[in-house]
Amino acid sequence: MKPSIRRLQNIFNLESDRGYDNGAVLGGLDRMIETWEAEARADEISEDIVRAVTSRLGTYPKLSPDSRREALKGLWFRIKRAEGFETDPEQDVSGESTPDNGRAALPQEGNRLAERHLDDASEPEAPAREGPPAEDAKTRPGAPTEPARRPDEPARVEQPAALEASVQVLPGIGERHGQTLGRLGLETLRDMLYHFPRRYDDYTQIKPINRLWYGEEVTLIGTAEQVNARSIYSRKMKIVEAVVSDGSGAIRVTWFNQPWIGKRIRPGAQVVLSGKIDQYLGRLTMNNPEWELLERENLHTNRIVPVYPLTAKLTQRWLRRMMHRVVNHWAPRVQDPLPDGIRREAGVIPLSQALLHVHFPESAELLAAARHRLAFDEIFLMQVGVLRQKRDWAERQARVFSVQDEWLDAQLSGLPFVLTDAQQSAFADIRQDLARGHPMNRLLQGDVGSGKTVIAALAVALVAEDGAQAALMAPTSILAEQHFQSLSGLFEGSGTVEPHQVRLMVGATPEAEKAEIRQALADGSVKLVIGTHALIEDPVAFDELELIIIDEQHRFGVRQRAALRAKGADPHLLVMTATPIPRSLSLTVYGDLDISIIDELPPGRVPVKTHVLFPRERERAYTLVEREVGLDNQAFIIYPLVEESEQSDSKAAVEEQQRLQKEIFPTLRVGLLHGRLKPVEKEAVMGSFRDGEYDILVSTSVVEVGVDIPRATVMVIEGANRFGLAQLHQFRGRVGRGGFESWCLLIPETDDQAENERLAAMVETNDGFVLAERDLEQRGPGEFLGTRQSGLGDLRMARLTDVHLIEKARRSAHALVSEDPALERPEHHLLQAALATYWTDGQGDLS
Ligand code: ADP
Ligand code: MG
Repeated sequence: MKPSIRRLQNIFNLESDRGYDNGAVLGGLDRMIETWEAEARADEISEDIVRAVTSRLGTYPKLSPDSRREALKGLWFRIKRAEGFETDPEQDVSGESTPDNGRAALPQEGNRLAERHLDDASEPEAPAREGPPAEDAKTRPGAPTEPARRPDEPARVEQPAALEASVQVLPGIGERHGQTLGRLGLETLRDMLYHFPRRYDDYTQIKPINRLWYGEEVTLIGTAEQVNARSIYSRKMKIVEAVVSDGSGAIRVTWFNQPWIGKRIRPGAQVVLSGKIDQYLGRLTMNNPEWELLERENLHTNRIVPVYPLTAKLTQRWLRRMMHRVVNHWAPRVQDPLPDGIRREAGVIPLSQALLHVHFPESAELLAAARHRLAFDEIFLMQVGVLRQKRDWAERQARVFSVQDEWLDAQLSGLPFVLTDAQQSAFADIRQDLARGHPMNRLLQGDVGSGKTVIAALAVALVAEDGAQAALMAPTSILAEQHFQSLSGLFEGSGTVEPHQVRLMVGATPEAEKAEIRQALADGSVKLVIGTHALIEDPVAFDELELIIIDEQHRFGVRQRAALRAKGADPHLLVMTATPIPRSLSLTVYGDLDISIIDELPPGRVPVKTHVLFPRERERAYTLVEREVGLDNQAFIIYPLVEESEQSDSKAAVEEQQRLQKEIFPTLRVGLLHGRLKPVEKEAVMGSFRDGEYDILVSTSVVEVGVDIPRATVMVIEGANRFGLAQLHQFRGRVGRGGFESWCLLIPETDDQAENERLAAMVETNDGFVLAERDLEQRGPGEFLGTRQSGLGDLRMARLTDVHLIEKARRSAHALVSEDPALERPEHHLLQAALATYWTDGQGDLS
């Protein structure tokens, strides 16, 4: 053992003997930092460890004895791992020898006990206990033993083949459990490694019984004094009761309907209990705590405990135990696909460690580092895939469409307005793309009302001019219909696309008409078909599909884009979105696309007047709504997602609609839109509102993007504090589309000053990109993009993380792809495989 580590060990042991009084070093443990650091560097201790030790010791004096114990324990664990030694009994950090059978002697005091666990949980289980014996591995391919490498074979690094083995190779998992796990998507050992906890419970604070408080979540350790099992027949309930004491006091513990516990916990047994402190008849109790006998590995208690997503017939306890086995044995054997250089550059921990600590973190810091690494992987792999896709795309051939300036001038002069500069430059980009001979792959981003539709129309005309076909896909029928109308209007008199050459095909289109459209598409007589996802599902075949346009792109999965694309031979692709996304993010999420931005609204727009109201001023909003409806206009009233489930959220909206209808606007027609309606029902409500059958539409945040309600002049947003600025801006874009004076009224739930300042940004600017940038600063990309945005929505870890990580991953991916685009170098071999797994698991799926 290196001297600097030995020294730490001695100090840690001494500190443990002294009950963590910060007295092992004269003047406090923080005093040793400088000298130790120098020593550690001389010993070539890794930078990670040096930093961890110095930072932990720096704060050590300020910690409670319990947290100090945790801090040293966590450090020691890390050091062991990094230094690659397993403590032998004499050198156990507690200074005591551990009996051979691995069972800890009964603890004299709490801190001793915890100390012992310092080594317990971290030791990988012996492989022998894990998988079937080695002979077995030959008859059962992929059994979880390490692949045997013949000595003469070159050391080509591979992931252990066993990662692809069925979960059923695990002892204790047969067909039945295998099927149950299958319902969670857990087929292989790899799936299990990547089945991340939903949340964590921190049970690292052990407390004596006489210091417990009602309501707190704690872990305690004691002796089971009495254990009684009984049934309450009247309530068909089985109860196990125990009294557990720890010398400082005793507490009554009750388990309901888990009669087996009575047989497992014997009087006199040492138990670890974790859970919430309850109260019954004035005395503290615990009901259904997590429990564990002390001599067993400390899995469920006395640590940061993972809580996994479950399915019926699985218990948290059982799954956690299985996960622990798999993780402990397999995580250390996983090969890191990230080349060392990239890993060091990015400053992320090795994959093995990340997998260990994301499941069974030894400390909050390690958990954070683990998540950071896994998040990095997701973005990195996505980026590498996206960049390679982009390269691949750029190499393909596509039909050349090129028009003369005269043709374009004629088209433009036929329009009812003059294009803005931003529109002109966006179209110039598209015109260039179409003439290049490679498939266009462009994202057109522009705020609501910036005029994207006319750009789409011009692109269609350009392609149709040369006899080819185009398809435009919108996320809902109502939007498809709207496009059908506005495009038909724009083509009128253009001389390029005749009215009968444009067709609408949505779910509700009668079958006979669909058949006719299919025929016309197949023989090329229809030049543009507009529709929803029905276009993908439909067996339509095109004569010459050369341009695909997708509106409100974030509502489409990348798979859907791919399916539509497959209907042509490398057609040109234009996707349009009104959701402003800051540049840093769009480069990532839409990394395979070129981007054009319309950052200017057509002239003469009346900006929507925005006000932030205090909750007590709600009456003013109602007055305005009433007045506007009196002028034959319409209003939206938006309610936030209050609860996590759509169900209760919808309930709140239902109740609110009833209240508004009965008490506030008894003479007006109040419609209702919420997340539990079926898509057709939603569209029907939206359609009725558009057609003026309602004066007011009460809605949750599901309200449709992009639908034109020309007479809507008021947007009231309740609970505005719950929405991000970007989303508020989207809501605001629903009104003021008809050229009438319009209002957006934001009503936060409280008078909170900070909140009002945040919302003031809405008053200050109408620029969606500015708001998006601010939103991103305030909330980070996870919140910002939400789950409905495709791309990042598929990521499990990255949602939780930050822009810096995303940019870091993007830089790394760029560097890699420009160096070795095909990932042919031996050191990229594992990465190649990881990439394949990543994209075929359906996480990425490129368009
Ligand atoms: P979005 O980008 O939200 O799809 P639209 O294409 O629906 O916006 O355009 C919004 C409105 O602005 C439409 O009524 C359209 O006719 C009009 N419009 C588009 N471009 C211009 C322009 N350059 N000048 C005036 N009006 C325009
Ligand atoms: Mg639009």
